[in-house]
Amino acid sequence: MRWKETFIPTLKELPAEAEITSHRLMLRAGLMRKLTSGVYTYLPLGIRAIKKVEAIVREEMDGAGGTELLLPILHPAELWRESRRWDHYGVELMRIKDRHGRNFALGPTHEEVITDLLRGEIRSYRDLPILLYQIQTKFRDEIRPRFGVIRAREFLMKDAYSFHPDESSLNQTYQRMYQAYSRIFTRCGLSFRPVEADSGAIGGDVTHEFMVLAQNGESEVLTCPGCGYAATQERAESRTSKPVDEAPLAKELVHTPGLKTVEEVSGFLGVEPKRLVKTILYRTDGGFVAALIRGDREINEIKLMRALGVEDLQMATPDEILRLTGAPLGFSGPVGLEGVGILADYSLQGGGNFVVGANREDHHLINVNYGRDFRVDGFFDLLLAQKGDSCARCGKPLSSGRGIEVGQIFKLGTKYSESMKAHFLDQKGKERPFVMGCYGIGITRTVAAVIEQYHDQDGIIWPLSVAPYQVLILPLNITHPPSKEAAEKLYSQLGDLEVLLDDREERAGVKFKDADLVGIPLRVTIGERSLQEGKVEIKLRSEPTSISVSIEEVPQKVRSLLEKISSLAKVDSQCNIGRMKSPLDEIYEQGINEKE
Ligand SMILES: [Zn+2]
Repeated sequence: MRWKETFIPTLKELPAEAEITSHRLMLRAGLMRKLTSGVYTYLPLGIRAIKKVEAIVREEMDGAGGTELLLPILHPAELWRESRRWDHYGVELMRIKDRHGRNFALGPTHEEVITDLLRGEIRSYRDLPILLYQIQTKFRDEIRPRFGVIRAREFLMKDAYSFHPDESSLNQTYQRMYQAYSRIFTRCGLSFRPVEADSGAIGGDVTHEFMVLAQNGESEVLTCPGCGYAATQERAESRTSKPVDEAPLAKELVHTPGLKTVEEVSGFLGVEPKRLVKTILYRTDGGFVAALIRGDREINEIKLMRALGVEDLQMATPDEILRLTGAPLGFSGPVGLEGVGILADYSLQGGGNFVVGANREDHHLINVNYGRDFRVDGFFDLLLAQKGDSCARCGKPLSSGRGIEVGQIFKLGTKYSESMKAHFLDQKGKERPFVMGCYGIGITRTVAAVIEQYHDQDGIIWPLSVAPYQVLILPLNITHPPSKEAAEKLYSQLGDLEVLLDDREERAGVKFKDADLVGIPLRVTIGERSLQEGKVEIKLRSEPTSISVSIEEVPQKVRSLLEKISSLAKVDSQCNIGRMKSPLDEIYEQGINEKE
């Protein structure tokens, strides 16, 4: 492809809206443009990288026994009502009405649609298991789209669904998907880690997220150096120190005028925040509940939902709090709290002499003790885990890092097949619900994650496997006839490769800057002076130095370099060890005879 014939609108300035590297570089290198908040147009370079990721995903999905299909984007609301997600998915579900006033959703995920399809088609255990996937545009009405394609409202995903006669069949496919995902992200050159995660709005019991390690990652990952446990912060189980047992003192009402926050109250009373107990009121399908947590820590609402067995909960409004406790927001406490269930975090077991809200405006109670002064309906792990907490399995302190979630695999079980009455006949002729799994990969997000891991201050450094082009031919002065002729000759000699020829009449400085920005792995530079000696320069984007090669040798050198880079990538994916450190010194030594 000739640069002038394609469309690569690079930007010199830093786009103000972009907060992280991949977002900045995807705009600056001309991979995409924003249409509106969280919605992007993919330009020619961007779509080429996306297609590379898609090709890897297709190969590995097919290799793992999957078959591709294409499901609709537009989903009738009735299907989402059957699974009860019309109400429970939340405001992120893009809802629209057609001209007849019928409700539809723009699909953020396709469990309903695929379950609806197969419940009408597959009747017998003999047709199971089956694994189907698609690569398609998804919609999610994010409250605050950010980080470019990492948290966009419209994005590309590969989603796969498997249907099984029983759990053990699901377990086999889940394991195969786990391995296929590891191969996919390895082939994309990514350093990643599978971690235990929460299933969120998709549901199911067992799930892993594939996290690309990145400083700018949205997700916090907690890992245990002791036993290897790794989980997202949402999911992580941890324990924190329990309060010291001490003799209960007499409960006392204290005047705390206008003091509502933990900081204000603990500062005023001169006690540590962890001696306070926060009482947080929630509204759920089954009524109101109060959750108790140590003053210095936060509730993990996902754990709370799981403890309660509900799919949705909302913080109570100030009016509701006033009605339930008799006091405004900021003065709630468990003492004398009637008519609501009370759940407490494990960290409040034992100890005592807590400070709590008095359920009376401008008042707190001190020296409050469990058992004597208040009751709870149960102790649970409600804690939002953090670095330094003890591992729930081995007790070692957890460490934390950040990651970008690029894929997630779920064991759904019978959540959808039961609610949507999707049944098959087993060997005994008995009707049973399908056992299901689902498996997603963010395609556009994976491209962004690659850029997060492969860049320098000048631009992108594509790994060969996902690079939009393999080779960039860069004549410094295209108006110099011998340069132009040499460039055109090379362009046709390398015609079987993915080659971009920078045929623009731009200054050399502009071309070099753009070359570094768009990050094509191998660059052949044709300069007037070296051409007089029959030489051109070859440079790998990932390496600081270039090498001088006689022009006749270029096609062979280019091929051998690309082959070596790609064979290293293959070794890499077979070993399944993530990205290797720069192995290119060796290639330079073997492949090239002369250094500039
Ligand atoms: Zn551990």
